[in-house]
Amino acid sequence: MEGCNSLYKVNKNELLGRYMVAATNIKQGQLIIKEPPILLCPQLGAPLVCFNCCAQIKKLQFCPDCVIAILCTPNCKGRLHDSRECATLKATSIKREDFITNPEMITPLRCLLWRRSDKELFERLLQLEGHLEARRDSQIWRRNRVNVESVLSRLKCIDEGDLKDEVVQRICGVIDVNTYDVRQPQRNRTGFNPGENLRGLYLTAAMMAHDCVGNAHLAVDDDFVLHVHAAVDIPEGCPVYFNYTNVLQGTDERRCQLKDSKHFECHCSRCDDSTELGTEMSSLKCPRCHKGLIRPKTWQCSLCKRIYHNSLIKMTLMECRRRIDEIETLDIETLERLLRKLSFTFHPHHYLVLEIEQNLVRLYAQSAATVKNLRRKIELCEKLLEIFRKIEPGISRIQAIAMYELHSAVANLAQKSFRDKEISKEEFVKKLLFAENTLKSSIKYLLYEPINSPEGRLAQNALSELKVLRLTIGNLQKDENTTQKKCNKGKKKKT
Ligand SMILES: [Zn+2]
Ligand SMILES: [Zn+2]
Ligand SMILES: [Zn+2]
Ligand SMILES: [Zn+2]
Repeated sequence: MEGCNSLYKVNKNELLGRYMVAATNIKQGQLIIKEPPILLCPQLGAPLVCFNCCAQIKKLQFCPDCVIAILCTPNCKGRLHDSRECATLKATSIKREDFITNPEMITPLRCLLWRRSDKELFERLLQLEGHLEARRDSQIWRRNRVNVESVLSRLKCIDEGDLKDEVVQRICGVIDVNTYDVRQPQRNRTGFNPGENLRGLYLTAAMMAHDCVGNAHLAVDDDFVLHVHAAVDIPEGCPVYFNYTNVLQGTDERRCQLKDSKHFECHCSRCDDSTELGTEMSSLKCPRCHKGLIRPKTWQCSLCKRIYHNSLIKMTLMECRRRIDEIETLDIETLERLLRKLSFTFHPHHYLVLEIEQNLVRLYAQSAATVKNLRRKIELCEKLLEIFRKIEPGISRIQAIAMYELHSAVANLAQKSFRDKEISKEEFVKKLLFAENTLKSSIKYLLYEPINSPEGRLAQNALSELKVLRLTIGNLQKDENTTQKKCNKGKKKKT
């Protein structure tokens, strides 16, 4: 079986197609897969990127060898636009202008060229799920026909047989279904627009099945190499799951996204539970009885049993989304006011409420460290963490960030309270020890992030903060010991 190591194997069934399962008991944090992408491409409709390093193109330049491939600088080489692709491109009748006028055909064409340069890779690509039937005659299908298929046919890159076999649609399907969003590296800042993400295709990782509560943690380093670690212990025989969706969205939103992009209905433990694992992340308050909850799927009040129409729920969500998007300058007061307004309609754990609260944590982190602000920040972090632990158990980016923010607010508040003589030294040390433990847990997760990512940099900061915190605690404990000894000495003298 391809791409196997001792930790996993690839099974096959009707429902999931080919999927990865643990071949042994995998421990939390163990590295399951480490692999480079076989393909990197911009998001659909995004601006042109360099064939070799994927930086956004500011000024059109071309490969000095094939004079066709678009590069960020003429000497950008040694990565994705290798000598094989260069030679294969040269052998076609394609001109560089063709790429500029038809940018959407670039990625499928590069896959097609593997037929000449790496036939085995091409075969493996086509083995991946492309959901051909589900996509047939859809909007994206028609778009690919115009922007890719007919262009490649005109350029004689595909023949009648390929058209009949729908090779181009199959390639496009595989790319859409199996790629992961990949963040641009921060290193080479010049060519990058940090807002623009890429898509990466990883042959082995593509075998991971989806679950809205994944058990795998994914991170992509600066060289676009994907690292998959076990987020929790994965027992032998259990599928290795990754959550393709945004974990912070509600069930309807996640299911819609999966249906549109991956063409399947999710029936995971979170989707099938109208409380979303007890988080109530999609629940609204009943406007009639004011006590019951309206939950996804039936949208029936848990108490007075009134059923609300799906369109009414959708309108309510849209209205709330509009209010959030309308905010011009994010400031604490505006967001707190909005939260109070939303509290009449939404469960306090609703995903839109959580979204605002995450923004608030960021704002409190930048604001004046008053007792009131710090207390509120602690309250928010604790609340968010409790939910994050349920929806993304184990190694988790969002948990790590919330724990980092929690530690900093706790340590800050403790220092303030001790200075103002509101707490004893003993209590002060206790609070700092709690902050230290929280920071350690945060670092434990952050260390799975690539060193040059924002989280990787946060890990470095966190490590130096941990040193300072330990020093402070050490000094306080030393003080305490000496005072205690002095006291004891005093006592001894007396006796
Ligand atoms: Zn480049
Ligand atoms: Zn070239
Ligand atoms: Zn699900
Ligand atoms: Zn009700």
